[in-house]
Amino acid sequence: MIKDFEYFAPRTVQAALKLAAKYGDKCKIIGGGQSLLILMRQGLVAPDYLVSIKGISSLNYVRDDDREGLRIGALTPHRVIEKSRLIQEKYPVLAEMETRLASVQTRNWGTIGGNLAHADPAGDPAPVLIALGASVKLESLNGERVLPLEDFYRDFFETALRPGELLTEIRVPPPPYRTGAVYTKFNVIESDMATVGVAASVTLGKKNSICQDIRIVLGAVAPVPVRAKKAEGLVRGKEITDDLLRKAGEIASTEADPISDIHASATYRRELVKVLVKRMGAQARERAAAA
Ligand SMILES: Cc1cc2nc3c(=O)[nH]c(=O)nc-3n(C[C@H](O)[C@H](O)[C@H](O)COP(=O)(O)OP(=O)(O)OC[C@H]3O[C@@H](n4cnc5c(N)ncnc54)[C@H](O)[C@@H]3O)c2cc1C
Repeated sequence: MIKDFEYFAPRTVQAALKLAAKYGDKCKIIGGGQSLLILMRQGLVAPDYLVSIKGISSLNYVRDDDREGLRIGALTPHRVIEKSRLIQEKYPVLAEMETRLASVQTRNWGTIGGNLAHADPAGDPAPVLIALGASVKLESLNGERVLPLEDFYRDFFETALRPGELLTEIRVPPPPYRTGAVYTKFNVIESDMATVGVAASVTLGKKNSICQDIRIVLGAVAPVPVRAKKAEGLVRGKEITDDLLRKAGEIASTEADPISDIHASATYRRELVKVLVKRMGAQARERAAAA
């Protein structure tokens, strides 16, 4: 049973920020409602005021330029990202990730900003965006700040968002030369949340196959997305062989801190990390070599 609340549907960011500032932690922002409404129905969240930002069309966009990179408005639905020709061509891993997120119905209504702000550790977009070096723009009546997405997550379902603050934009830097990025998740039911998700981005040398940079990001194995930095350190500066990736997978599994739940035991999740890091590392290497 949902507790009564007062509902607002501002049409501008400024109007939404005023409401968010006025009602502070007594109010909840609602985007597509795909995650929040479930929590409200379960009685886990019971705001006195609900501020729907879904009608703020100025936060629904996908733009790109060679210098600044990709900019995605926080209210852009998952389905728009999946179907964007620009993203498919220049940031294909993002579009591919979206095809595996939930159902078409949920992707049509749920927004990328809502997904990131919800901070479910099994969410798909965060590992991919962190692998791409993304940051988020947070706005309040006091101004704006930009945080690396990697620093946005604090704990299970907790972020750096302050009361009165909105996530308004996601920024992805232009991909470096000879870079390839990939993502996969293991899940038992297709279009369900990840049991384990792994994103990898590899940058190769301009004229050789030495790894200039690698980012390995694990989802659903800790309260927040995890950069497997020790595994990255092992691979960076070397030729990426299958054996090196096998070792990287083993190291990454020690950087994970998974729980056991009805979907998988912690031990099984660590095994998945080993397999998926090796697999994603190899696919990212192929993509980088072909870029
Ligand atoms: C059946 C089903 C299957 C799903 N499967 C997957 C899946 O496979 N992978 C996956 O990653 N997700 C999955 N999800 C989750 C879901 O798709 C996303 O979490 C959803 O897109 C969130 O977006 P929203 O706009 O609906 O957010 P809402 O539900 O409106 O909001 C979520 C949270 O974010 C806050 N919020 C929303 N927008 C902003 C903003 N701009 N600034 C600040 N705070 C904000 C809200 O206050 C709330 O706390 C699934 C959901 C359902 C219902």
